Amino acid sequence: MIKIDKSVKIENSGERYNSFNTHLKKEFGEKVYKIPIDSHLSCPNKDGKISKEGCIFCDKYGSGPIKTGRLKIEEQIERGIERIGKKYNVKKFIAYFQANTNTATSPERLKIIFEKALKYKQIVGISIGTRPDWIFKDHLPVLEELNNKTYLWVELGLQTIHYEGLKFLRRHHSLSDFVKTFSELKKRGIKACAHTIIGIPGENREQIIDTARFLSAMEISGVKIHLLHILKNTDLEKYYTEKKIQLLSPEEYISLVTDFLEHLSPDIIVQRLTGERDREIFIAPEWALNKLDIINRIRDELKKRDSFQGKKLVFSSDIKYPFKK
Ligand code: SF4
Repeated sequence: MIKIDKSVKIENSGERYNSFNTHLKKEFGEKVYKIPIDSHLSCPNKDGKISKEGCIFCDKYGSGPIKTGRLKIEEQIERGIERIGKKYNVKKFIAYFQANTNTATSPERLKIIFEKALKYKQIVGISIGTRPDWIFKDHLPVLEELNNKTYLWVELGLQTIHYEGLKFLRRHHSLSDFVKTFSELKKRGIKACAHTIIGIPGENREQIIDTARFLSAMEISGVKIHLLHILKNTDLEKYYTEKKIQLLSPEEYISLVTDFLEHLSPDIIVQRLTGERDREIFIAPEWALNKLDIINRIRDELKKRDSFQGKKLVFSSDIKYPFKK
């Protein structure tokens, strides 16, 4: 049995988890915010290349910005710098290509898209949201070049390591797709962040913890934790209206996220503790709209348990990872 070295301290002063904000402050010497961008690319899980149905939870904006998404990329960046800059008093930004699948085009076009963001001196980094099965061999040199030029993250929508969960969500990719793509990124020194969802129907506490253990074993650079929530005009909304699924209570979510963190390597940067979406398209659960409250309650829970990220992480030979024979 390999035990993780508990002397590894979370570098954030006073934090019990490895938060992205603290990491960015350390990296750039000041606060850095993300500007969400719609690059006007499609998603193969919606346009028929993989499927036409899309993920069960996905809205028509492909999880991207609902108000500025139709604007030109440059306009989205300029508005973001203006609005977010004023609101949070920040001068540095990461261009977050968020909507749909931001590698769903040729390498040549990808280069043009990302270069648009790098024209702005306020943009100090790029984050690319995509599917684990949609980075191809020809895309990798573009990402590698970008990684040499700027502070880069590639965000892979994994959601869960479990087959049944991926099937319910209609992801149409496998855990093995994730492993292959992640390995290619890692080989090139590109930071990857896995998106995960807590509250997938049928997934129990142990399975959720297994996802944290798996990501720790993979030595991924970052994770984003989302709550399964209902957005307008999605198939998940129908399930919810027909009472076919049950959503988590805030207490359940806080407890599960805390368990997840306790089993997550302290080296992994936690980019998000709960998802957020615009009120205009949000249906349930109502409590999730109070994001700050949830984050504070997760912090309180860690404190109450006298715990921290990675406290319970133990790799043992009896853990059955799905890819292990
Ligand atoms: S892969 Fe992303 S953009 Fe595509 S349907 Fe799923 S959540 Fe939406």
